[in-house]
Amino acid sequence: MSPPIVDSPELFPTKLLETPMVIDLGSDSEPEDRKEHQDQDQDREILIFSDFDGTIFMQDTGHILFDSHGCGADRRKALDAQISSGERSFRKVSEEMWGSLDIPFGKGLEIIKGQLEIDPAFRDFHAYCLKQKIPFNIISAGLKPILRAVLEEFLGAEQAKHIDIISNDAVISEDGTAWKPIWRDDTPHGHDKAASIKQARAAATMSRPVIVFIGDGVSDLPGAREADILFARRGLRLHEYCIENNIPHIPFDTFADIKREIQRISKEEIRSKKYFNVPLP
Ligand SMILES: [Mg+2]
Repeated sequence: MSPPIVDSPELFPTKLLETPMVIDLGSDSEPEDRKEHQDQDQDREILIFSDFDGTIFMQDTGHILFDSHGCGADRRKALDAQISSGERSFRKVSEEMWGSLDIPFGKGLEIIKGQLEIDPAFRDFHAYCLKQKIPFNIISAGLKPILRAVLEEFLGAEQAKHIDIISNDAVISEDGTAWKPIWRDDTPHGHDKAASIKQARAAATMSRPVIVFIGDGVSDLPGAREADILFARRGLRLHEYCIENNIPHIPFDTFADIKREIQRISKEEIRSKKYFNVPLP
């Protein structure tokens, strides 16, 4: 029997590109007591984190597999309800969902690729990040072997290699009868997105990076809490939650909206802290 498929762990994501994009905060006169803070604000750089399922891609890679070659849509929805009600943890439920699969990795990947739709503006957005040398990282509760293969399929290996993925790993038997998530940490979510972003912020070589987070679901809230600027896919749960709780955010329909906003960020907006310090309950 061949060894199981294991995506080797990657180093932490803040692999900064040479000469990253700099937000020029200028040198307008400021009160003396703000001078020190102002000095610290010089040359702040952008660091982007994005969710994967439902954000870069319109569907959920796990759902596609569970519904077609695992527990089925009805059971999957019942299990999702258990997470929502707090009856069981995301981690426990996910282990049951992934454990229900009976399909080899390669065949599962073909099914996913056949059903997934990428955000129509994502390729252009990521090309823009590469050109501007803005680090773009994926932060996900999904399984890294799937995410990596899907990115390479949709972006090409050359472009995809510039994206770091912070997510759970997996061990999958060759015959596809045993799918086992390898959780990133010991939390009930299996992956504490907030902790990962805090680590990235601390590890960044840049001084006080501007953290941008892009997401679609409630599971993105811990990550959103760490963001300086939050983008929420319009009409989905994260967006609704932000409205219900008066959380500063920017809704988006496609990554073209995000690109436009990133281009528009000015020193005045950074100083006003319009989108900063998302106050989550
Ligand atoms: Mg999502």
